[in-house]
Amino acid sequence: MPVSLLAAWLMAVQLMLLAPSAVTAAEVAPIEIDMPLHKVSEHVYYVRGVPGIATDNKGFISNAAAIVTDDGIAVVDALGSPSLAKRFIEEIRRVSDAPIKTVIVTHYHADHIYGLQVFQDLGARIIAPGGFQDYLSSPAAEERLTERRFSLDPWVNDDTRLVRPDVVIVEQTELGLGDVTLDIRYLGPAHSDGDLAVLVQPDNVLISGDIIFEGRVPFTGSADTKRWLEVLESLDDTGIKALIPGHGPAASEPAAAVSRTLDYLKYTREQMAAAVDEMMPFAEAYEAADWSRFQKLPAFDAAHRRNAYGIYLSLEQEMLGE
Ligand SMILES: [Zn+2]
Repeated sequence: MPVSLLAAWLMAVQLMLLAPSAVTAAEVAPIEIDMPLHKVSEHVYYVRGVPGIATDNKGFISNAAAIVTDDGIAVVDALGSPSLAKRFIEEIRRVSDAPIKTVIVTHYHADHIYGLQVFQDLGARIIAPGGFQDYLSSPAAEERLTERRFSLDPWVNDDTRLVRPDVVIVEQTELGLGDVTLDIRYLGPAHSDGDLAVLVQPDNVLISGDIIFEGRVPFTGSADTKRWLEVLESLDDTGIKALIPGHGPAASEPAAAVSRTLDYLKYTREQMAAAVDEMMPFAEAYEAADWSRFQKLPAFDAAHRRNAYGIYLSLEQEMLGE
């Protein structure tokens, strides 16, 4: 082989090696949905999903926030489909052209993570709490995705993928971004296998993820409600000007929002604990309990009985000392 050809060949090989592992951005189905960007403080904005079940409102049922600075943007949570994430970015672009540098995921549940790939394809770094791997390695993660490809078609489709974080948070971590500091609080397993909350300074806005549900019945699934209660009870909300929950409107009185989720968990646990103590079957205990204080809340019919059942089962485990 002539020297010049060899050199050209070597250069081609080198270029191939240097090229980023060419991930072509996946096709994202367009979505028509009302998603106004609400301003909460100088740097913090959010979009608000409707209070409903996972497949209501084209899957737009959870919140996502953007912290906007001149040096870049951080997003908290990625919504329930790539289409919703793309729509969210359109809204962010109305207020800033700065690069989206980071996505902080409050927890790994479908309604908060299916949009991640859109941010990853833009080059954003993804930060998530320890515990995400328990979700990703469980059969439930794939099963859920398969189900949503059906129930949220075409917005969740064969191109939708589960995205792993680049950085894992297992303790309180501060992240500077332009003129703000993101104080990332690792909460351990509470609502999910691993949760975190983000306090934005100097704005004093707390983005809580799903440890707070506002204006609807929470989704407790297989949550560790004992630990969840402990997290809420130890949450220091002094000085916080606004709280953006994982679901529901931002609260300007954070203490009241915290106490509403706390009351729901506490009361439901108390009712079920009494039944477990007496070894009363679930159906009977559920019928006997007075649920009127939550009955008018959105998602009561869809979520409450299942929540109570999950709590009943976990209390049985707690009683047996497991
Ligand atoms: Zn959620």
